[in-house]
Amino acid sequence: MSSMSHSPQTICVLGCAGFIGSHLLARLLAHEHYMVLGIDREKNKIADLIGNPRFNFFNDDIKNESLVEWCIQRSDAVVSLTAICNPALYTQKPTEVIESNFLHPYKIAQICARHKKWLVQFSTSEVYGRTISSFANDATGKTPDRPSSVEANSDYILSEEKTPFILGPVATQRWSYACAKQLLERAVFALGFEEGLAFTIVRPFNFIGARMDYIPGIDGEGTPRVLACFMEALLKKKPLKLVDGGKNRRVFTYIEDAIDAVMAMLANPSAAKGQIFNIGNPTNEATVAELAALMIDCHKQLAPENSSYNYRTEDVSAAQFYGAGYEDSDRRMPDIAKAQKVLGWSPKTNLPETMRLTMMDYLKQYAHAA
Ligand code: NAD
Ligand code: UDP
Repeated sequence: MSSMSHSPQTICVLGCAGFIGSHLLARLLAHEHYMVLGIDREKNKIADLIGNPRFNFFNDDIKNESLVEWCIQRSDAVVSLTAICNPALYTQKPTEVIESNFLHPYKIAQICARHKKWLVQFSTSEVYGRTISSFANDATGKTPDRPSSVEANSDYILSEEKTPFILGPVATQRWSYACAKQLLERAVFALGFEEGLAFTIVRPFNFIGARMDYIPGIDGEGTPRVLACFMEALLKKKPLKLVDGGKNRRVFTYIEDAIDAVMAMLANPSAAKGQIFNIGNPTNEATVAELAALMIDCHKQLAPENSSYNYRTEDVSAAQFYGAGYEDSDRRMPDIAKAQKVLGWSPKTNLPETMRLTMMDYLKQYAHAA
């Protein structure tokens, strides 16, 4: 039964000013039913929400444990989002990646257990690591044909309860993030088992949308995730770089569809507690090269004033782009049957529409910056 009929709920959102956090915050505050206590060390993406009377914002670090405990004690549920989750940093700053994806959120999970609060912990689709098929490729040296349908090859479909996790060697530091998140999931599960922690674990599959990351040189530095890398190239009229030819595949999930899933969890605690959910859009699968082509087409339509721009892609090796220690996931295809059945949730937005909505927002936001 939905809890929406009961008294107002206070949700503690840790990492409320990030990409997912800012969208979740906007959606929670749109419902009079919710009050939000939020912590983030950034605030730019939520500037328009900071004055909302149902939002109490602390511009601080979650390492401030007394503040985190104060907020958790006053909340009905805690959504834990803080992390370093940018692949370029997995190889450049692996200790920070491990600390921010295990050590710090584990302390938060312990506080939730101590105060008997429901923890909604964001994990990642990367816990599945290398797919079994990519492992098989190494032995055969062959690249498998793309299956004609999702059902065609069940090795590709990642199931919360059945799929084993295969990470690369320790020296391949790409896996520092996946390994830390996997240990966090196991620790949260163990706190549930030993101390009765009520938890829900969310595994996002490449959410995309407005406010994802930053445009290097404009409102951040470094290498963001692929959507922002390609947007930077389009805004600055540079080639879109395809790592190892852009052959790897992702399912790109519209952020508003993903937030629908989180809202369904928060509205149905009894259904969501104790569950791990894949949240992704299996029908939005594309190779990174296909994503680049889609983004070029979309940019041509939405920014026709750039008709003189020589739109192009450029192949780069992973070593050139990310440095040593990088390894890619070739494919992540989620089984979302559990989220569909338990939460009554399904993603609705196809990839061209996702891109149109996302790019319109980027073009508006960065109209005067590039
Ligand atoms: P994001 O980087 O946009 O947001 C993270 C937020 O946490 C940022 O605003 C950052 O300032 C804040 N933060 C980090 N460390 C902090 C600290 N010590 N104290 C205070 N604030 C801190 O990332 P996102 O895309 O919104 O991802 C949120 C969560 O979802 C992460 O746990 C990530 O691993 C997971 N995830 C996201 C995706 C996706 O597709 N976006 C995919 C897989 C997993
Ligand atoms: N990628 C790319 N060009 C870029 C940035 C990323 O080809 O400018 C590739 C990257 O190697 C990976 C995919 O895009 O295969 C998705 O990368 P992202 O950083 O968005 O997240 P991931 O799904 O790997 O965590």
